[in-house]
Amino acid sequence: MTANKLVLFDLDGTLVKAGGSGRLALNTAIAELYGAKNICSRISVMGKTDVENFTSAARLASGKKPCAEVFRQVEQRYLKHLPGEVRQAVKGGRYELIKGIKGFLSALENAGVPYGLGTGNVKAGAYIKLEPSGLSEKFVFGGFGGDGMHRAQVLRAAVKRAEKHLKTSFKPSQVYIIGDTENDVFAAVENGYHSAVVTSGFGDEKTLLKAGPELMESDYSDLYPWLLWLGVKQDPKGVERGSYICPDTPIDHVFYSRTGIDAMSLRVGIKSLRKKKKADAKLAR
Ligand SMILES: [Mg+2]
Repeated sequence: MTANKLVLFDLDGTLVKAGGSGRLALNTAIAELYGAKNICSRISVMGKTDVENFTSAARLASGKKPCAEVFRQVEQRYLKHLPGEVRQAVKGGRYELIKGIKGFLSALENAGVPYGLGTGNVKAGAYIKLEPSGLSEKFVFGGFGGDGMHRAQVLRAAVKRAEKHLKTSFKPSQVYIIGDTENDVFAAVENGYHSAVVTSGFGDEKTLLKAGPELMESDYSDLYPWLLWLGVKQDPKGVERGSYICPDTPIDHVFYSRTGIDAMSLRVGIKSLRKKKKADAKLAR
């Protein structure tokens, strides 16, 4: 069967929470090189690529733009300290899988939907962070921090690798990005890909809502909205009645599909939908 859709997962806060191990490893790398302590408390690392994080950490600590050699040193030291930090996170109970992720991956496999990584982590770092989850061997292709300074480039690289691996090609409308911060959404939108987020990662719920993902769920414990979003499952109401309200956009259709509003009572349905939209917009302010 030729795959007609592709799912790409961000890593931190989307598949696992590695207990701040990346931040701690970068802190140590920078402290060793420049003596600057706790550098990550002074830069924003969430939802950024490692290239961005290594660059801004080194720039802040040294006062100048890091050259390729400096960048290589930061990366080398980061990767040296990361396994120990991940081990500490596991030992300290700070390492966790996002709820329902194993079941979601199995559901994708059963539905014949291929999936890979679309993460800001450099490749070696990504697999070090994934290792304790038991999920690493499930991810055979992906886009990584080393593929570019910006997340949108990382995602394009991931799609290219997926195409090569699966010997097929994907239109942007067949690519589904799952993340946990607004940067995941922006990078997906920039490429014309679909986007969804989990709110149990590192993103702020209001900021996420403002970014406008097509689907927003706390985690993967309820697979129904995810499979509906991916078009793997059909909405039984829509199929039965053939008149499910598709509100203003297909995005709204997925986002509000779980309200149970349908065309059985069209006038009331639209009224309640508008009310819900208003309430959501208020929450986003
Ligand atoms: Mg993330």
